This record gives sequence, C-alpha cells and structure tokens, in this order.
Amino acid sequence: MKLLVTGGAGYVGSVCAARLVETGHEVVVVDDLSTGHADAVPDGATFVQADIADVAADLLTGGFDGVLHFAAKSLVGESMADPAKYWAGNVLTSLRLLDAMRDNGVPRLVFSSTAATYGEPEQIPILETAPTRPTNTYGATKLAIDHAITSYATAHGIAAVSLRYFNVAGAYGRFGERHTTETHLIPIVLQVALGTRPAISIYGDDYPTADGTCVRDYIHVLDLAEAHLLALANTRAGEHQVYNLGTGTGFSNREVVQTCRDVTGHPIPADFAPRRAGDPAVLVASATAAAENLGWKPERTDLHTIITDAWTFTRDRA
Ligand code: UDP
Repeated sequence: MKLLVTGGAGYVGSVCAARLVETGHEVVVVDDLSTGHADAVPDGATFVQADIADVAADLLTGGFDGVLHFAAKSLVGESMADPAKYWAGNVLTSLRLLDAMRDNGVPRLVFSSTAATYGEPEQIPILETAPTRPTNTYGATKLAIDHAITSYATAHGIAAVSLRYFNVAGAYGRFGERHTTETHLIPIVLQVALGTRPAISIYGDDYPTADGTCVRDYIHVLDLAEAHLLALANTRAGEHQVYNLGTGTGFSNREVVQTCRDVTGHPIPADFAPRRAGDPAVLVASATAAAENLGWKPERTDLHTIITDAWTFTRDRA
C-alpha cells in the first residue's frame, strides 16, 4: 500500500514506519521535527518536513491507500499549562487531515490514541467500553479526535482504527525513545543508570497497590507496531474500530526501578516524592478485543526484555 505516516520521525511513528517499509509498503513520512528527529525516519521512506495541517490537502492528492496518524503533542503537564497548543496542535491538525482524506478519497486511517482517553478507571482491566472521562487536556484532545474519526468514518466511508496505547516502552534497533523533555518513567530511570541524572524520584508510595506505588501496563514498541500492521489489514469501510494496546499485566513503579537495576547493573538511587497530580493508581488494559478482532498477540511482554531493549538503545546513543 502507499501510506502516509504523520509523525514518522517520532518514537512510535518511526518504529511503525520502519516495520511498514520492511513489510513492503511505500511510505511517505511527514513530520515537522518539533519533537521528532530526521535521522529516525527509516531508510526507504520518503521524508517531507512540514506541519501536516499545512500540507495534508496537497500531499493526499497523490493516490494514497491509507494514513497512519501519529503526529501529536503528548506531554500531559504541558497540555494542562498550555491547552491551546493541544487543541490546535492535535485536534485542528487532525481535522485538516480528515478533510484531506475525505476530499481525496483516501480509504483507511489508523490513529494513535491513548489510554488517557479513559481517565481514572472504575474497573481494572480497562475495557474499550469503559467510560471515557479524561483527566487531562492531552487525553481530552485525543478523545475529541476519536469522536471526529467516528463521524468521518460514518459519513464518508473511511475505514478507521484507533489504537489506545497503554505505557509504550522498549526500542527497535536504532528506533527508540528520545524526547528532549523526558517525563516517562523508564527513560528517566535509564538516564540515572547512564549517569546523566543523579536519582529517580518515585511519585507516591501510598497508593492502594501491593507495594504502594502506581501500577502500569508496559507494551513493547515493536509489539505496538505489529498491532498497527494488523489494524491496517483489518479496517472496514465506514467503521471506526477502537482497541486497547496493552499486555493485560501491570508492573509497579518499584518493580520497574528494580528491573532497571537488574538490567543495567547500576544501583539507581531512588527516593519518594509526593504523588503526581492526575496519576491513577492502576492502569491495566484488557487486550482481548485486539487479540480477538485483529489477531494481535504481544510477544515481548516480559518487563526485563522491554527494559533491556530500551537500555541497549539508550546506551548505544550515549
Ligand atoms: N513516575 C515516577 N517518577 C518519574 C516519572 C514517572 O514515579 O520521574 C511514575 C508516574 O507517577 C507513574 C508511572 O511512573 O506512576 C508512569 O508514568 P509515565 O509518565 O511513564 O507514564 P503515564 O502512566 O503517566 O502515561
């Protein structure tokens, strides 16, 4: 297929673009490099450096079979402090993209959504039918886009799949996580092992969990990419399918830090800080719908494997 990958110079987008190229698709990456890296665009993909909102209408005249839409602002804290950046950068940009798909008859869309659309869960594991009550602006903008996609799919026959990621981690060879502003647990802990940060502060040790720290569902970025390939192959005209992507198993923040010590051999000093606002105690996916409907089965579910791949990437780039 001829595919447009927005945000293909970012973490998840670059891994997916690499797998799409490797599986024989013709890939055009569009990325404004506001948070992505030009050298993360995989060999074999055509790269257009631009804001998708500016170029979608022109680009999509080129006979595309589908779009994978990763380009987004994704920092929760920033989304609360500067909501306009997220409503414009995420929602308006996605509407321009959807308009361009409609105008050019582009039949398929796979959208990078998030568990943040659910907010504080009432039940664990989180099913796709759970209430969507995002607790931050980032999640609200992703949910708004999901609603827009449903409308465009129904009205214009677009075959769409939204994939709601839980905690993405790991790396795929030279494609990995490197944010200028890093807020995620595993890359921050690995910075301590690398020696670029003195210690890790774990936010909260009084949550109602087995060891008092938050529990998250970590999904290897390569398993995540495989889900995108399956989603692309299983779209249905006029339908908007929504799937969680997680393993269904949670690991606590303490377990993550300990596994990072085991993998890196570094003592990784840790202290406890107050809870971070808006952090639910436990976020674990029900991943059965993606298994049943897409045939997706994550294979790199072991936390040690996920962190080993992240560490190899981090150390090699240092
Ligand atoms: N966390 C932490 N210290 C940090 C960064 C994150 O204790 O420096 C915790 C955070 O409070 C949450 C978990 O690690 O309980 C995962 O956070 P992350 O930002 O990686 O992902 P989120 O679950 O918020 O999407």
